Amino acid sequence: MAKGFNVLFVTSEVFPYSKTGGLADVSNSLPQALNSLGNDVRIVTPKYGPLDERRLQIHEIKRLKDLKLNVNGKDTKFSIKSSFIHGKNTKAQMYLLESLDYFKNKGIYQNSNTKKDFANNDERFLFFCKAVIEILEILQWKPDVIHCNDWQTGLIPAFIKTVYSNNPYLSDIKTVFTIHNLAYQGNFPVSSFAKTGMPDSVLTEKGGLHYGQFSYLKTGLNYADMISTVSEKYAEEIRTDKEYGCGLEDVLNTKKKRMVGILNGIDYATWNPVVDKLIPYRYTYQEIPLKYENKRELLEKRKIEYDEDIPLIGVISRLVDQKGFDLIQKALPKLMQENIHMIILGTGEEKYQKFLKAAEKKYKNKLAVEINFDENLAHQIEAASDMYLMPSKFEPCGLNQMYSLKYGTVPIVRNTGGLADTIIDYRKPKGNGFLFDKYDSDEMVKAVQSAIKLFQDKDKWNKLVRQGMSLDFSWKVSAQKYMKLYKDVNSSKL
Ligand code: ADP
Repeated sequence: MAKGFNVLFVTSEVFPYSKTGGLADVSNSLPQALNSLGNDVRIVTPKYGPLDERRLQIHEIKRLKDLKLNVNGKDTKFSIKSSFIHGKNTKAQMYLLESLDYFKNKGIYQNSNTKKDFANNDERFLFFCKAVIEILEILQWKPDVIHCNDWQTGLIPAFIKTVYSNNPYLSDIKTVFTIHNLAYQGNFPVSSFAKTGMPDSVLTEKGGLHYGQFSYLKTGLNYADMISTVSEKYAEEIRTDKEYGCGLEDVLNTKKKRMVGILNGIDYATWNPVVDKLIPYRYTYQEIPLKYENKRELLEKRKIEYDEDIPLIGVISRLVDQKGFDLIQKALPKLMQENIHMIILGTGEEKYQKFLKAAEKKYKNKLAVEINFDENLAHQIEAASDMYLMPSKFEPCGLNQMYSLKYGTVPIVRNTGGLADTIIDYRKPKGNGFLFDKYDSDEMVKAVQSAIKLFQDKDKWNKLVRQGMSLDFSWKVSAQKYMKLYKDVNSSKL
């Protein structure tokens, strides 16, 4: 086994403590996969609001209680609480930062009562970045690498290289920055910069200045020793195509040699119909009829008449433009003319929530909509559906298409980012799903129609289902690639 690394994995979401999307799943499963390769990866994340500390086995540590940190000229108190995430034979140490000043509310980015972004998100994540660095000496545990994820952690590489560059305990720690979604940038008025206490050189085009704003993401990209993102295709798209680059394509292009795409893996202890405790009927790829029992139960619960021969299309998603809901909105009348059933689970933009609720009433007995964040229902939809629709405008990696493959739920996706890297056209050898290229509702409908047509041919369909179920998107390969990244970043070449 190669020599392991000490890595502090810094993230704003970790399942089951907090989750809005894929980052939470990755933050749970990647560190455990890396630990099983002989690394010591520890996770640090905010503790949002009061959590059920007994159920989640979160413990107070006396010497890590009531610590002090100066943020924006004010002293603030915080504590580090400890917990572990576990797999079957894997685990990872969690540090949860508790702060009444910054993380009292249970919302992650938005206030859970008002559903609006916190007005002090700049200071909340400034506190987080600074605290992450300051706790290292207190913990007396020194990482070789701080692995930062998304804009909420973007100030860390800059702090290490400026404010803390003379601190011998910290100055030689390397940083890796992973982009999970380039569209979320943490851009704030330049007045926010003064709160950081960083030298003015950071507020320049070569630092965090981005179209007249102070960008946490751009700061991270410019100061990190290495950058990665979550699929090879997305790594190329954001560097070469303005539509995907969100104004950062030139910055990324200059960092081409220090940037890699590593596909996210799946935790098959959690997302696997053979062992999934959240679905009524567990099944292997030799037991497809049991999948239909899941379909029957879900449809009956939603008051839709079960019919094995009518395909059920599932969607589980944040309701935002990125995920293609404008296409779904436009195409729904056409889709509803087809002999299909559909179930959509999501939360997000008000306009889509309203539209979907109204559509559910209009297409009673065909369409079920649940506006909610519901982990159990997400698993049940994966198990019950015949097809999974994911028409994203852009998709850094996407997890649900890979979950779907394991559940024998055939993906229908747009040919972009991580979707393009994981889904192969059903007509090709090793085909596993349906793709459409152009971001267009008619193109999407055509792809759905092709799936409906193939569904009528049970032999061909079951072959496609089994092909998907037999694929392996576990972390095995990708975790090795992260280890190589840690090795490279620690080599003297940089
Ligand atoms: P993103 O991170 O862009 O939202 P991913 O496909 O990478 O997209 O990951 C989405 C994750 O969030 C999946 O685990 C999915 O099941 C989950 N998810 C999204 N919306 C909901 C919801 N409303 N209820 C339960 N789980 C959801």
